[in-house]
Amino acid sequence: ISSTELTGEFLKRSRALNADYNAFITIDEETSLAQARAADAMIASGQAGPLTGIPVAQKDIFCTKGWLTTCGSKMLSNFVSPYDAHVVERFNAIGAVNIGKTNMDEFAMGSSNETSFYGPVKNPWDITAVPGGSSGGSACAVAARMAPAATGTDTGGSIRQPAALCGISGLKPTYGLVSRYGMVAFASSLDQGGPMAKSAEDLALMLNVMAGFDARDSTSLMREPEDYARDLERPLEGLRIGLPREYFVKEINDDVARAVENAIAEYHKLGAETVEVSLPNTKLSVPVYYVLAPAEASSNLSRFDGVRYGYRAPEYADLNDMYCKSRAQGFGAEVKRRILIGTYVLSHGYYDAYYVQAQKLRRLVAQDFAEAFKQCDVIMGPTSPTVAFDLGERISDPVQMYLSDAYTIAVNLAGLPGMSIPAGFGNKGRPVGLHIVGNYFAEAKMLNVAHQYQ
Ligand code: GLN
Repeated sequence: ISSTELTGEFLKRSRALNADYNAFITIDEETSLAQARAADAMIASGQAGPLTGIPVAQKDIFCTKGWLTTCGSKMLSNFVSPYDAHVVERFNAIGAVNIGKTNMDEFAMGSSNETSFYGPVKNPWDITAVPGGSSGGSACAVAARMAPAATGTDTGGSIRQPAALCGISGLKPTYGLVSRYGMVAFASSLDQGGPMAKSAEDLALMLNVMAGFDARDSTSLMREPEDYARDLERPLEGLRIGLPREYFVKEINDDVARAVENAIAEYHKLGAETVEVSLPNTKLSVPVYYVLAPAEASSNLSRFDGVRYGYRAPEYADLNDMYCKSRAQGFGAEVKRRILIGTYVLSHGYYDAYYVQAQKLRRLVAQDFAEAFKQCDVIMGPTSPTVAFDLGERISDPVQMYLSDAYTIAVNLAGLPGMSIPAGFGNKGRPVGLHIVGNYFAEAKMLNVAHQYQ
């Protein structure tokens, strides 16, 4: 099958399903098909790599030259990027096809995709359920086979949690492995782009394209390139799986706990052993995150002033009024909540009490993992404490929404790699995700562990 035919099929499916699922904000058939034809020429001339000609959906947080890049916000609803993000450049260079820009929570703030200016995404397993967030459009697109693969970003769980809730695989790499250049900034010390796909094998092929040094991101790591697919077939005999005592507590739903226990029983059959480890500061991670992430967001989002690009209020009295009205009209409620929290914790008199304190606790959370990895190779647990919740169920209760990320957030605070893979089904037949956390740069090992189970 040619890339043109393959791309045509996925476009046909996307067009048919998007009215119901709302996974894509932008579909541009002509541009996708032109890329597919160019990929076919590349294949014909013998220059093809494993992903040449393969359609990949891009989360609408990645700048894509000539395409609308909205970040799920009214603020960027008119923004056509003049340049490509590093990740997009990488996919273009190997001849992958951009199959569309996926829906997301506004500025990646959310766990259900309900904060998007473009309306919520539906979970393809049950359209009364949320797909998770913030990369809910990408997760839905892959789960509904509207795209074979997609990119996501993960600041506190936004790749892993929607992957879990939609029954697909997703990987948040070690902080600094994938360049943030051209990825709209939310909380820069936590943000990391990564792949979302059906299987660990597909994630490995995508990570091979996405990872690598980029001088335009000051936190990009200079490392020898690796082949993340190299260890997929390695047997798991002797693998030590750490099970944190703090994860299997009463807050976790029985159905999720059962699915995770079943997955771990499978790992025993594959020759792995389990050891109990402790992450005593786990309970601090959500409160620490909700000081640090809003602090960074309030600073990052100050650039949206209606002057150089993005939304500008149609009527205003003077410059200050223009700033105020553009931001008041351009940002949604959750984004405003984060800006207010962030401005508060950074303000004079509160900075030491909140921001500095949270930075210290962040270190403790990271040290917990360092201790745990002395006793095990990977850590496992549930990705999310519950299966997908219903649309509308948590949107009016921010604290409930924030607790959706109780298991994923600590990994971002520590800068570690984490992934979610499908592990059966829980209540109402909705998917459960198994969370696998590795030490820094253990992506190849984690993909091996995931692939052996799949
Ligand atoms: N749900 C978390 C938040 O709203 C994480 C989002 C993310 O990882 N981008 O901040």
